[in-house]
Amino acid sequence: MTNEVCFRTLHLEMPWSLEAYESVGGYSTLKRIVAGELSFETIIDELKLSALRGRGGAGFPTGLKWSFMPRNLAGQKYVVCNSDEGEPGTFKDRDILRYNPHQLIEGMIIAGYVMNATVGYNYMRGEFYEPLERMEIALAEARKKNYIGNNILGSDINFELHNHMGAGAYICGEETALIESIEGKKGQPRFKPPFPANYGVFGRPTNVNNTESYASVPAILQHGGQWFLELGKPGNGGTKIFSVSGHVNKPGNFEVNLGTKFSDLLAMAGGVHGGKKLKAVIPGGSSSPILNADTVMNISMDYDAIGKAGSMLGSGAVIVLDETTCIVELAATTAHFYYEESCGQCSPCREGTGWMSRVIHRILKGEGRPEDLDNLDRVASNIMGRTICALGDAAAMPIKGFLKHFRHEFEYMIEHKRSMVKG
Ligand code: SF4
Repeated sequence: MTNEVCFRTLHLEMPWSLEAYESVGGYSTLKRIVAGELSFETIIDELKLSALRGRGGAGFPTGLKWSFMPRNLAGQKYVVCNSDEGEPGTFKDRDILRYNPHQLIEGMIIAGYVMNATVGYNYMRGEFYEPLERMEIALAEARKKNYIGNNILGSDINFELHNHMGAGAYICGEETALIESIEGKKGQPRFKPPFPANYGVFGRPTNVNNTESYASVPAILQHGGQWFLELGKPGNGGTKIFSVSGHVNKPGNFEVNLGTKFSDLLAMAGGVHGGKKLKAVIPGGSSSPILNADTVMNISMDYDAIGKAGSMLGSGAVIVLDETTCIVELAATTAHFYYEESCGQCSPCREGTGWMSRVIHRILKGEGRPEDLDNLDRVASNIMGRTICALGDAAAMPIKGFLKHFRHEFEYMIEHKRSMVKG
């Protein structure tokens, strides 16, 4: 375990306080910016060198993303933090907000400076009462020291940051739905292009990053892009917080170097609960395809290795499943979730998620037909790539994964009208 980046204050008393954050070098990067020691070009170069990739799920290189913002365009620009964290299995961002809020704040101030944006929004899911409280206290502390506000530390840099609470829709974790929600509208995704870098909040250029991505930035600039890169692997720089849940003895968040072996991560989480056998793992939140035990045990936990194995690192939500797990039940729960959360704008997602959910629930009730499995796979294929936003793919990919690796469990249930695992 490293705890070197986003959780680096965790070992301190009151790790969320300004005092704790400053004791690990917090706000030193901001002071270097104010002193004219760090240009926006240098910051982007360091981020590119660090190989920091978006921690919300997409894994897009952060330095490259920041370079897309038209910083010299006149008028208002925004930086937005996606702290919506609705992906089932993910619970890391709330712990950054609770235990190290100042690092997120400094990361967003730096982003504002680089992209010439004077206003930031931290969009949090509506249930985050404690994280909101911590963030508000941290913002008040930062304001008092003039780390945020006008003429920061006597410079000509202005930046104001606001917390904005969502109302509980999973789809508001999609960046354009989130932007609509900030604007006070119904949280429904927009067509892309135009991308937020050109047309974001109130139609103005906007950069959206995940909480963990922004919070990684101050540590990168404090220790250098090369340092961060070397914590991980080429193209997969730094640490990553994995939220490990499911059938483990010690579920929780573990900040480890990218490239750590899954078996080591499982050991940190205390191993499989009750000494049972590992059956499978969902490596990156509910939308990532399942991997069976043989594949996953020796896998390196990084974007490229998990992608090569046929799944995604996603948000780093690792759901561990033991031998007692019925995959048909799991598929039914997953399909129902996406059916419930589809915003309904486009037919393949709105109708397809409903069909998938109904067919799997019918199989579960013992009323499945042999042709159901090919139909399920076909419906999932017809959703993928045909929708406005990625929720369609997120709903289809896990179902295809369940069918690919555990088709025999579905077939057994159709034939015997009972679970192969549970009897
Ligand atoms: Fe809405 Fe689904 Fe279409 Fe996304 S893919 S816009 S959630 S209907």
